[in-house]
Amino acid sequence: MKILALLHTENNTLPKAALEVLTAAKSLEGELMVAILGSHAAAAANSIAGCGAIKFLTVEGAAFADPRYATDSAAATALIQAAAADIVLAPSTSRFARALPGAAYRVGAHIDTHIIAVTAQGGAVKAQRWFYRQRILSTFSRTARPWMLLIEGGVNTPFEGAAGSANPEAIAVTLSEQGTTINGIQAPAADAQTIRPDAEILFVAGAGWTKKQKDGQYHIGDAGALIQGFLATAKASLGSSKSLVDLKSEGQETLTFMSHMNQVGQTGSTPRHLKGLSTCCHGEEPHAVGWRFITERRAVNLDANCGWVQGKADVVYIADAFEVVAKINALLG
Ligand SMILES: Cc1cc2nc3c(=O)[nH]c(=O)nc-3n(C[C@H](O)[C@H](O)[C@H](O)COP(=O)(O)OP(=O)(O)OC[C@H]3O[C@@H](n4cnc5c(N)ncnc54)[C@H](O)[C@@H]3O)c2cc1C
Repeated sequence: MKILALLHTENNTLPKAALEVLTAAKSLEGELMVAILGSHAAAAANSIAGCGAIKFLTVEGAAFADPRYATDSAAATALIQAAAADIVLAPSTSRFARALPGAAYRVGAHIDTHIIAVTAQGGAVKAQRWFYRQRILSTFSRTARPWMLLIEGGVNTPFEGAAGSANPEAIAVTLSEQGTTINGIQAPAADAQTIRPDAEILFVAGAGWTKKQKDGQYHIGDAGALIQGFLATAKASLGSSKSLVDLKSEGQETLTFMSHMNQVGQTGSTPRHLKGLSTCCHGEEPHAVGWRFITERRAVNLDANCGWVQGKADVVYIADAFEVVAKINALLG
């Protein structure tokens, strides 16, 4: 069985998500090949020369430096065809999530997304993914070949191995027409982004931050400053309960830097971080579903009887989160 790890570069090197896919591909029984597209693809191939692949294929050049559906799907099509792979594993980055379904159609492959595990024994390949908001875990296989699998970030250890000379084969790509011209990229400053999938810590804020506090007053401005202070010093990612993000649509004063994109839980996201700290948060959904993939979980709540905090956190601090976070920020700062 021919297994292809289809990767792309980011800032001229292989991103963590690509190295994680390489680990997953290496664990399968079969002939491993690696294909890389993007700027400095050949140098990236050399950086993982010791991964055990029998062949390295690359597509690079100015047309493939920036993510763009037309060029990326054409390059991925050429790489998959050159490898004649049976199984294609690729990282579930925004670049590939956009371009690879088109490549799958062109090579006649079947593609599955949100894959968290792949095994291959005796030619039988099985993949795993969650359905129904991470409540049902399914293990399944397909007879279609090629079979393309987009692998979720954070579930495999990034590959580490010797660099060397990979002797990559440059694959030519015929571009029929190039519809989009990239004149530049406008993006917010890195620390303006509160959703940081690669952060070690997930900070979950609940609606308690916006409730009347012990002096009978609201302290939403203080809450915002404390949370943003923690995010900046701990380089944490920000999650929220549904109640907190819903306040905005109800026209109530709330934290301005929070949106529905931050919501974790049954109807939110289920991120993967090493540590989680939930503050002023009571709900079942954020604690039971929202951070089920968080390894070490702690919570700060005034309510010693909060069942979801007690049931799901490894450590619960019965304390005022305003005081706790101010103290942590002072220590970190
Ligand atoms: C179908 C369905 C889907 C849902 N999906 C989601 C979902 O995806 N995500 C989600 O989050 N919710 C979801 N919910 C809502 C969920 O059930 C809860 O209502 C919600 O999570 C509660 O939000 P909260 O804990 O922030 O607020 P609250 O329940 O109001 O809790 C506030 C907490 O803050 C504490 N507190 C207040 N002040 C302080 C302080 N100074 N220091 C420390 N602690 C303090 C209080 O003790 C309290 O425990 C869903 C509900 C339904 C019905």
